[in-house]
Amino acid sequence: MAINLDELDPDQRVAATAPRGPVCILAGAGTGKTRTITYRIAHLIDQGFVGPNRVLAVTFTARAAGEMRHRLARMGIGGVQARTFHAAARRQLRYFWPQVAGDLPWRLLDNKFPLVGRATRSVGVDSGTETVRDILGEIEWAKASLITPDAYAEAIAGTQRTPPVEAEKVAEVYRRYERAKTSEEGMLLDFDDLLLHTAAALENAPAVAEEFHEQYRSFVVDEYQDVTPLQQRVLDAWLGERDDLTVVGDANQTIYSFTGASPDFLLNFTRKYPDATLTRLERDYRSTPQVTRLANAVIGRAKGRVAGTRLELTGMRDPGPEPEFSVHDDEPAEAAAVAKKIAELIDSGVSPAEIAVLYRINAQSAVFEQALSDAGIVYQVRGGEGFFNRAEVRKAITELVRAAQRDDLPAEAVGPGLRVVARAVLAPLGLTPEEPEGAQARERWQSLNALVELVHELGLATPDLDMNGLLVQLKNRAEAKHPPTVQGVTLASLHAAKGLEWDAVFLVGLVENTLPISHAIKAGDHQIEEERRLFYVGVTRARTHLFCSWALARQEGGRKSRKRTRFLDGIVTDPEPVERGTSRNRPKRCRVCGSPLESPQEKVLRRCIDCPGGADDGIFEQLRAWRAETAREDQVPAYIVFSDATLMAIAEAMPADERELLGVSGVGPVKVDKYGDRVLAIVNGTLD
Ligand code: ATP
Ligand code: MG
Repeated sequence: MAINLDELDPDQRVAATAPRGPVCILAGAGTGKTRTITYRIAHLIDQGFVGPNRVLAVTFTARAAGEMRHRLARMGIGGVQARTFHAAARRQLRYFWPQVAGDLPWRLLDNKFPLVGRATRSVGVDSGTETVRDILGEIEWAKASLITPDAYAEAIAGTQRTPPVEAEKVAEVYRRYERAKTSEEGMLLDFDDLLLHTAAALENAPAVAEEFHEQYRSFVVDEYQDVTPLQQRVLDAWLGERDDLTVVGDANQTIYSFTGASPDFLLNFTRKYPDATLTRLERDYRSTPQVTRLANAVIGRAKGRVAGTRLELTGMRDPGPEPEFSVHDDEPAEAAAVAKKIAELIDSGVSPAEIAVLYRINAQSAVFEQALSDAGIVYQVRGGEGFFNRAEVRKAITELVRAAQRDDLPAEAVGPGLRVVARAVLAPLGLTPEEPEGAQARERWQSLNALVELVHELGLATPDLDMNGLLVQLKNRAEAKHPPTVQGVTLASLHAAKGLEWDAVFLVGLVENTLPISHAIKAGDHQIEEERRLFYVGVTRARTHLFCSWALARQEGGRKSRKRTRFLDGIVTDPEPVERGTSRNRPKRCRVCGSPLESPQEKVLRRCIDCPGGADDGIFEQLRAWRAETAREDQVPAYIVFSDATLMAIAEAMPADERELLGVSGVGPVKVDKYGDRVLAIVNGTLD
């Protein structure tokens, strides 16, 4: 077993090595919560406190569950159940159902829409798609909040939710929908029913509870700030009288309240378990100080109870570039600029798999997909959980199954040798030695290549794995929805980006009515705060490069009526609009002689190198001396403070105040925050 607790800092180690019993880690983004619980599980097992198959780890997504199992496997620990609440409940229910319901059959209802639509019509309400979807959302919220149809109308009155139609009518649709799921042939269970029935089975059937409690001893929940009352009820039923529970979360990353989730369970944890070990982590290992400073500024403006619990993050990574902000005429222009930037990052050595474009709603992806395709950049839209469902991957697996049945398999088709065999089998499907041209062929190639890499990874992990064993593992993977990482740029919604990280993150479409989204604005402060947290989640996904952008109009030539998101108020002053096509089509010109500018240095200065800039040499020298001193104090290279070109540009612009200083190229809000006073004092001659 390879558990090295030195890979944790002292605070993390306290949580990971706490004795059995309740543990709560309350910590900000990137502080190593997920890492710590993974080590905690490993430690509990390593020390013999609990067997691997007696631990149940609950994660927010199937992907996160796969990731956790993968990390544990790397530490030599297999057999831990890591699942989402739903997946865990589904498995348990399948097992316990006969004990609680006899031979009454049940089936999972994965599309509620038709049933809710029918119920809506039967109540005499307009059953347009929008209305049905909204009513469905209400039913889901009510079920997750443990609110019955009879209690719905009263419950909603006490919230900021506005039902899509009269509350009584929603309640009636809810009631009829619930009834419609049961017939003589059996029961249809929706996702929430899986949880409800699991909890009920454990609560009401002592034999079931006993068997379950015998099996599972230790529970770990990640992203606990987004647990719903229904999930909490399941968790309580799992625990019974025991308290061997570790929870981790960040109340300031609560972004699923609209589904009924609440950070209260996290914030009240130590009240429920007064003996709990409580740890707070503040060191952010994910992001540079430049990124964490922006994150702190964003969440620093939050209001309400949750905001009161926030911690100030300290970026532990080496300094990096300042976050960049840009405004564009329209969405296609914004997307084109993003694609161009991405191409530059890739050229400079950032792997495409380490780049993400994040947006508020899925529909925003289309314009970015288009721009990335145009630029020849490979991308994948999340849920990448669809990997095993892609036609080429399904076909590839069929071919591998066929190959496994052949009796002339080469002897080296085991362990690390599986890769060669897989390559040969998949070559006829389009896995050429070199990546082909053409979007379709390339996408297919990328998928097949990713599959071979996965085969390789599995082969390395188990040196005596044969073809049949491999197929079993692939099947497990497919079921666990843990796709291999395709080497492409990720496009995802902010909600789906939770818990993940990339070297470079683009937060796009940052305009009012998109972020915050219009219905949140209508609903009021509570929901606006949730949108702010969503933005905070986005900012904190970035390790090094962060780009925030927005467009003034939707379509080319459209009315430029959009406003930048309020969440950047006081943090950034609007940058100059980036002109379509930027430097290539419309070069920036020298403010003195009007010639096109070439070098980055000239662009910062907004003049040719040889043209007179009008700087006061004395000021420039003073700025340089100040920079040298500051760089020494902060222990960073001088250019991290300001480049020569920026210092010269400041000396030439002679900004009178912060706003003017922000107008100088190379000066961002974070720098103004940090150095603004001193720089302005030098420029204005008021330095003491
Ligand atoms: P989020 O709130 O976004 O879910 P988190 O608190 O779960 O974040 P992790 O994903 O566990 O954070 O860690 C963030 C990054 O920092 C990861 O890349 C992780 O490997 C790294 N990290 C965590 N702890 C340490 C440490 N003690 N030393 C070095 N790197 C660390
Ligand atoms: Mg995490």
